[in-house]
Amino acid sequence: MSKQFLVIGAGRFGSSVARTLYQRGHDVMVVDIDEMLIQHISNEVTHAVQANVTSEEALQALGVRDFDVVIVAIGQDIQASIMACILLIELGARYVVAKAQTELHGKVLKKIGVNRVVFPERDMGQKLAHSLIAHNIIDLIELSDDYSVVEVASPEEMIGRSLQELNLRARFGINVIAIRSKNGITNISPAAEDRIDQGDILVAVGDNKSLKKLGWI
Ligand code: ATP
Repeated sequence: MSKQFLVIGAGRFGSSVARTLYQRGHDVMVVDIDEMLIQHISNEVTHAVQANVTSEEALQALGVRDFDVVIVAIGQDIQASIMACILLIELGARYVVAKAQTELHGKVLKKIGVNRVVFPERDMGQKLAHSLIAHNIIDLIELSDDYSVVEVASPEEMIGRSLQELNLRARFGINVIAIRSKNGITNISPAAEDRIDQGDILVAVGDNKSLKKLGWI
C-alpha cells in the first residue's frame, strides 16, 4: 500500500531518501528553502515545495498530520533541524525521523520526541570500516548496542558442512536466519541438515561478542 511521506531538506541525503521512496511507488512531498533545489527535484517526486520549515505558518500550510512519516534531512543547520522537529511534533506529525550530524544533536532530537534518529555518515563510516577489516562482511544491521544482524560470505571452513554440524547456536549463540545461494535463491528458514555451499551468503543474528569471535563484525 502506498504511503505519504514528507521529506524536509533536499540535500544529498534528503533527495536520495525522497527519490527512492517515490521510485518505490509512494507519495512524496519535498520541501526545501532553496528554490533551485526544489526545481531540480520537482519531476522526480510527487510535489516539491519551497518553504522555510522553521516558520510555523509554513509548516501548518503543509498539513503535516496528513503524512505517515516526516523525514527531517537537515544536518548542517542544527538550529533549523531542532526547530523544525519541535514544530512538527507540536503540529501533530505522526512519525518523525530526523538526521543528526553529531551525537549531541541526536540526543537533543530524541529528547524533544523525534521517533527515530539516524546518523548516516557515522553509520556508513562504521559499515565501511567493518567491511574493510573483515572482508567477508557484506552488510551489518545493529539491532541494539549488544546485538547485530550480519550478512557474510560463507567462510571457507564452513563450506560443505550442515548447520547442525557447525552448531553455531550452541557454540556461539548465533542463529543463521537465511542462506542466499549464488544463483539468487534465498532459503529463509534453513533447516539443521542444510549444507553451506561455495558462494553462499549467510544472514546471521547474534550478540556482538560472539559475532566478533567469528570475525563477523
Ligand atoms: P546533505 O549531507 O544531505 O547534503 P547536510 O547534512 O549538509 O545535507 P544541510 O545542507 O544543512 O544538510 O541541509 C539539507 C537541506 O536542507 C539543504 O538543501 C537546505 O537548503 C535545507 N534547509 C536548511 N534549512 C532549512 C529550512 N529552514 N527550511 C527548509 N529547508 C532548509
